[in-house]
Amino acid sequence: MASSPVAPATPDRVQALTSALSSVTARIAAAVAARQPALPPPRLVAVSKLKPASDVLALYAAAGQRHFGENYVQELVDKAVRLPSDIQWHFIGSLQSNKCAMLASIPNLFAVETVDAVKKARKLNDARSDEWDKLNVFIQVNTSGEQSKSGVAPGIEAVEVARYIVGQCPRLNLLGLMTIGSIARSRAAADGDQNRDFAALVETKRLVEAEVGVDGLELSMGMSDDFEDAIKQGSTNVRVGSNIFGARPPKKQLTAS
Ligand SMILES: *Cc1c(COP(=O)(O)O)cnc(C)c1O
Repeated sequence: MASSPVAPATPDRVQALTSALSSVTARIAAAVAARQPALPPPRLVAVSKLKPASDVLALYAAAGQRHFGENYVQELVDKAVRLPSDIQWHFIGSLQSNKCAMLASIPNLFAVETVDAVKKARKLNDARSDEWDKLNVFIQVNTSGEQSKSGVAPGIEAVEVARYIVGQCPRLNLLGLMTIGSIARSRAAADGDQNRDFAALVETKRLVEAEVGVDGLELSMGMSDDFEDAIKQGSTNVRVGSNIFGARPPKKQLTAS
């Protein structure tokens, strides 16, 4: 099916989006300045799930934003064909084996952040074209242990998936580890404590690097409610949605736009 052009956002919407993005980038800069040891600023992934393509185009054109995150494979495929090809897409939704091939065939997919099994890594690797850049992947780690969250257990499970990607997946690049912290812990950490889920991801990174013999793995952690704490604890990739785009509609109300 031919893709339709993306209608421009209204001037008011462009203004609202760019000012929300600037306020997030200012808060990121302040958190970066406060962190020890000094580390480069994290990448900001603007999470556009359930938001219209016109919002993505507005931030692309008016604010130079390039990294966007999506949770649903079909929505990502639809947006990717209609929007500029130098957008760097991140898949951050729960990963199903039967969707891996479709994902890996998006040329400007920058990273799949939610690899949580050897089998899914294999499927992504098998489907990725030799002629393209390696596909970056993050291993999702369930640091909070909540049943509702995907991800490998911190520790040996994370090591096993990492070893498989590094040793057996020539078309994948293991970029780092990702987690979604529990809301309760991000609230507790707001009182000045360390967020235990983020600390667990940092610890898992040390373990994986030592056991697999890699270094410089990234840490994808921090969302609208907790990105400043995540940055203070070493995040290199924050995923911020509602602080930029506003509250999301329930999924069933999503309409093609
Ligand atoms: C939706 C989502 C985000 C963004 O959440 P906000 O709270 O809106 O910033 C980040 N990461 C993942 C994995 C998500 O599913």
